[in-house]
Amino acid sequence: MSDRRTVAFSKNSANLFFHILTECNLNCRHCYINPEQHGKTRVPLKTIKSWLDVFSDGDPAPNLIFLGGEPTLHPDLAEAVQHARSKGFSSITIDTNGFLFHDILNKVGPEEVDFFSFSLDGATRKTNDAIRGQGSYDTCIKGIKKTVSAGFATSLIYTVSRANLAELRLMPALLSDLEIERFFIQVIGLRGKASRSGGKDALQVSRSEWLQTIPPLAKKIAARDIIVSYPKVYLQPEETFECAGRVAQNYFIFPNGRVYQCPLCEDLPIHSLQLKDNQLIPTAKLNESDLFELNIPEGCVMNKLIQPDNISYAIGGIPEYKIGCCLLKEEIQAK
Ligand code: SF4
Ligand code: SF4
Repeated sequence: MSDRRTVAFSKNSANLFFHILTECNLNCRHCYINPEQHGKTRVPLKTIKSWLDVFSDGDPAPNLIFLGGEPTLHPDLAEAVQHARSKGFSSITIDTNGFLFHDILNKVGPEEVDFFSFSLDGATRKTNDAIRGQGSYDTCIKGIKKTVSAGFATSLIYTVSRANLAELRLMPALLSDLEIERFFIQVIGLRGKASRSGGKDALQVSRSEWLQTIPPLAKKIAARDIIVSYPKVYLQPEETFECAGRVAQNYFIFPNGRVYQCPLCEDLPIHSLQLKDNQLIPTAKLNESDLFELNIPEGCVMNKLIQPDNISYAIGGIPEYKIGCCLLKEEIQAK
């Protein structure tokens, strides 16, 4: 396994999630991209460079993640990577659905891109394609194999929902076969398309399903020398709640210049920063950063606002547990 870095979901980390476009060739059931809120244009290369410059001298140097939409649909992605590399970002990752457009593997090298991060939402073609679309499984698997053969490190993101929870048990073997180095487990949330359908998809897994499945599975995968990250979601009463908006630096940039610090805020015009004339400007109050300051017994304020069904209360109205920050995850690896 390489010692390359990529996105870090930990306290004091710095990550720049740069959505260089919102267009995509797929139409996944739970896609969180919201063009009405995020813009519909491709960010021109000149602007990509200027915006990267704005963030490049952060302390600590941020991990940079290019994403979309599907970022490899952007014809200038390779040049954007090369510019970023010259600017001293801590690591560079490209998130992709596996289609790897514009011959990207031949335009960048493993010395420029630390990780290609693929999204797969099922261990089998049937389950993945029901969520992500016909043909997406085969293309993603082919893309991973090609990327590994070209000498790149790869990671995999799996968004857990009721539709694919059962298939997680097949993932350890698949990850090993594909020589994946890092596995990121995400929990389906009610934003983007999932929220616009009124959450009626009933895709969210229950607390007991999550707790019974995810931590033991993560251990199993880590034993295969694959680093696993997963959100704890449900904190025990004795665990300290922290909001990444206060203890880490995460910036989610969108083509319309909005910059959010919390992904759960992205469906609302409450971004705390805006890129204007290539300058980063704080937005007027109230905005997401005012929410980060609130201390509530339920933990994450945004979770309480947009998915209150995740919380249950004991007699007397006391929450039975806190909801942790989705940007601060458990990371486990073999000793
Ligand atoms: S690949 Fe990503 S951006 Fe494209 S539709 Fe699926 S979730 Fe959305
Ligand atoms: S998910 Fe919740 S805890 Fe995390 S940054 Fe957003 S508001 Fe804060």
